[in-house]
Amino acid sequence: MKYLLPYWRRYRFRFFFAVFFVFIEAVGELMQPRIMSVLIDDGALAGSLPTVGRYALIMLGVLAVGAGAALVRNYLASVVSQQFSRDLRLDMFKKIQSLPADEIDRFEGGSLITRMTNDVMQLQNFSNGMMRVFVRAPFVCIGAIVMSATLNVRTMFVIIPVIVVVFFTLLISMKMAYPRFAKMQRRLDTLNTTMREYLAGIRLVKAFRRFDEEEKRFSKANDALMDETVGANNVLAIFSPFLALFVNIGITGILLLGSIWVDTGDMQIGQIMAFVSYLTQILMSLTLIANLLNMFVRVRASNERIAEVFDSDAEEPGTRREPTRTTGAFDELRFDNVYFRYRGSTGDMALSGISFSIKRGETLGVIGPTGSGKSTLAALAMRFYEPTEGAITLNGIPLSDVDEGILRGIVAIVPQTPALFTGTIRDNLLWGKEDATEAELRRAAEAAEALRFIEESKDGFNRVVGQSGVNLSGGQKQRVSIARALIREPEFLILDDCTSALDLVTEARVKQALFDMRMTTMFITQRISTVSRCDKILVLDAGTQAGFGTHEELMENCAVYYDIYVSQIGSD
Ligand code: ADP
Ligand code: MG
Repeated sequence: MKYLLPYWRRYRFRFFFAVFFVFIEAVGELMQPRIMSVLIDDGALAGSLPTVGRYALIMLGVLAVGAGAALVRNYLASVVSQQFSRDLRLDMFKKIQSLPADEIDRFEGGSLITRMTNDVMQLQNFSNGMMRVFVRAPFVCIGAIVMSATLNVRTMFVIIPVIVVVFFTLLISMKMAYPRFAKMQRRLDTLNTTMREYLAGIRLVKAFRRFDEEEKRFSKANDALMDETVGANNVLAIFSPFLALFVNIGITGILLLGSIWVDTGDMQIGQIMAFVSYLTQILMSLTLIANLLNMFVRVRASNERIAEVFDSDAEEPGTRREPTRTTGAFDELRFDNVYFRYRGSTGDMALSGISFSIKRGETLGVIGPTGSGKSTLAALAMRFYEPTEGAITLNGIPLSDVDEGILRGIVAIVPQTPALFTGTIRDNLLWGKEDATEAELRRAAEAAEALRFIEESKDGFNRVVGQSGVNLSGGQKQRVSIARALIREPEFLILDDCTSALDLVTEARVKQALFDMRMTTMFITQRISTVSRCDKILVLDAGTQAGFGTHEELMENCAVYYDIYVSQIGSD
């Protein structure tokens, strides 16, 4: 509940204000049966019309005040709970943004979305319910008992047994419902993940005609959700009629005993009617409390899931220790015997024993088959992950000590799968540099061989890019993504296999332009023709370092490199 405290502090005045009105409403509610009993016993039964009139007026007044108070607390409750969920979602969003990549990997695909929507909604409903019921129900419940006791002490013979039985029924139902609701939430997660995976791979599903398999997968998750939900609701369904039953037994009891007590003169008719009202109020408030408790059960699961997001390590720059500031220039990036294993993966290291360096002005080629760890290497260089063992240094400073802002200013990456955002092509390019001029935009686009296709469309740079670039071809996306990195004129550029979707001619032109820029660049690729032009080459094979050196050196003494060369270029 730690993360909820700031919200509580932020809303406490509004909360107390709402509670105040709830209190007034409850007092009104409790006074009514009492007034009614006087109206009947002293007015109607005594045949005094003025007394009836007076108490009827008082009752109307109390009703009006109660209704007014209910209006205000409803308004406050809904406004505050909406504000609360809005703030909570925003804070979760910020938190997620600050998480390192491997922390985000821990949350299954769909689960962060469910946490931000469904789980927050549960908390919102709960806080709304709290403000409306939290004070009123227990107060009305206790108040009704006290009022009945002062009205006629004999009513306690009925009330006390009813309350005890109802209390234990509530306790048992809570114990039984909690694990079921927790499970239900997890099923909802699974359903979400399944759907997201399906949508991500929908073309493949169509291409491979795997409709039946996918439907089965979805049905399975869907059925599981239904089963758990039904199970959880069954618990509630079984217990709530029991509560009504016990209270109704109480009402029958007081009617029976009451008729005897009226005969003996120990009770009055108006008192019996008032007592029936009080018992009904007690039933209503107990049901409300039960609902609130059941809601609480659901909310506890949601609360834990939200807390998990807040509890995950945010490695915000500088929070762990004072980051070392370096100049914004790039001198050297060095890997020293670096090992890396993805969190949660039990298998082999994704990288083991990697040592190389790249100095200012150099080009480094990284070559290796798919799955050999090239993208992982780039991610480590960007400090998306921390190495499991070994050291990575930038300008002689451990990468983990470098101020994150400075690091991002020095190093730019063009990722293997280009990620574009909804907006125009210009918006996407300006991500690289907010204040880029038109000339800079054009120059970067030209170097990335993107200018031609951009200008061919009638909107040019203002052409709208759909969600994650759906309306661009793979090659077009890659070129926009390259241009976006170039526009920053980074000190050090990492290109991760980012020309794979281009035709050979275009690819050659892009690469030539990149070489011509004489930037410090890491070319990650599977093409020997690209790496052979680099000053130094790192050869990866299943996460291990098969070689590091110049083209000539590797041709001499690295069998893996030689084999790749022969397979792509032919024998030398
Ligand atoms: P490459 O870029 O050379 O194709 P990667 O660096 O993407 O190779 O992957 C290297 C290895 O690490 C592969 O075996 C891959 O399955 C594994 N891997 C990649 N990303 C993750 C991840 N996020 N979690 C766990 N394992 C991963
Ligand atoms: Mg890769």
